[in-house]
Amino acid sequence: MLESSRSTSILLRGGVILQHDSGGSVTGLKADLLISGDRITQIHPKISPPGDETTIINCHDKLISPGFIDTHRHMWQTQLKGRHGNHNLAEYIPTGHLTGGLYSPEDVFFGELGAAAESIDAGTTTVVDYSHVALSPSHVHRAIDGLVASGLRAFFCLVPTIQAESWKPVVKLKDTLIPDWFLPLLGNLAEQMPMADGRIKLGLGFDGFHLPREEVVSLYQQAKKQVFDAINPLADYDLLGPNVIISHATGMTDYDTARIRAAGAFISSTPSTELQMGLGEPVCLKEDFYGISSLGVDCHSAVSASLVNEARLILQHSRAMRVQEKDIDPVMQNSKEFLPIMDLVMDVFNLITISGAQAIGMGDQLGQVQEGMLADLVVWDATSPGMLAAAQHDPVAAIILHSSIRDVETVIVNGVLRKHEGKLMPFHVNREEQKDWKTVSKDILASREKLERLIQNTCG
Ligand SMILES: [Zn+2]
Repeated sequence: MLESSRSTSILLRGGVILQHDSGGSVTGLKADLLISGDRITQIHPKISPPGDETTIINCHDKLISPGFIDTHRHMWQTQLKGRHGNHNLAEYIPTGHLTGGLYSPEDVFFGELGAAAESIDAGTTTVVDYSHVALSPSHVHRAIDGLVASGLRAFFCLVPTIQAESWKPVVKLKDTLIPDWFLPLLGNLAEQMPMADGRIKLGLGFDGFHLPREEVVSLYQQAKKQVFDAINPLADYDLLGPNVIISHATGMTDYDTARIRAAGAFISSTPSTELQMGLGEPVCLKEDFYGISSLGVDCHSAVSASLVNEARLILQHSRAMRVQEKDIDPVMQNSKEFLPIMDLVMDVFNLITISGAQAIGMGDQLGQVQEGMLADLVVWDATSPGMLAAAQHDPVAAIILHSSIRDVETVIVNGVLRKHEGKLMPFHVNREEQKDWKTVSKDILASREKLERLIQNTCG
């Protein structure tokens, strides 16, 4: 896929750069930042543009943060948005998850592209796409095409997909979880990855742990030979390791948690869906999970794809739970104990930056704004009505608690502008053709309407 919107270099001039120190604290540094190719090559108080072709972006009164990293997501679900506002897990599975079985490969392409557009718009630059819509090799290829076209950085995790055999009078599932073509395709993809200038890498997602041990172990051994960076399972067969992300991890025993930590694996909490759908208390800010947690959106069919929203939600939820656990009067009238706030805005900012990068095994390349790292960056308007005053006092608090998606002015992924001056850049939907968001949105709505009819006729 062509990357024709790449400029040879981009100079971000005069912004306040949010930089992590070795302890994970963030301070704002006013400086210029130079991107050459896919990397941040220089951060300095004054940088001259290296050539006439350099794109210069005035960043005075702007914040520059790392792009955010979403470690658990089902990108295909765009056409299902709005259907699950009042659903728990048991209601979502047949009306959401399983309706993926009605998607055509083209529906998957537009689902992925729409999801990526929503992510980029909100300042997310990397997703772990847990793609449980692998109905055929064509579905898989079009899902990857959608990610490539979007400009987003992604781990495409191929998932053996649970499908409905029949829908009425009750949903009956197909017996076969891993079709014959699955492993050959996995091997084939492993040879082609990474794709799109290194942006798209391959992973394996799995939740079929009800299967016999031999089947699970064989799948993983095959996968480990051929793939790997982000694997997404709940493994109990000595398969746990640093390249594993365990989704949700709610209801873990102390023993489970210790094993995850010892193995160097990470977890992905998805606060909105966990709180809504009855998956249990999100664990990412609990002491046992300190340093091994990251955040994901999970189902953007049910909630906004903004990681800032997820960070904000879990921060305030966790603060409330600590007060409740200590049984302190919320207005402090009857309390003898004053409980200082333990969960800080910095903690959740780090969940979606440095910890997200570590979870996908790219802690030395993503999640921070440092020379030598990949150029995945967000430029924020620091003088919008919402951000003004907060951004000048505490940039991290401003982003986590005062920002909206409107304040995400510019998003750069792999050294390429993907959103600029508040607008998404056109997408290369194939080698010859670019489409702007307005056109893509019409394609997505046409696909949604077709799927709506199919869903009504098949399982409504
Ligand atoms: Zn999920």
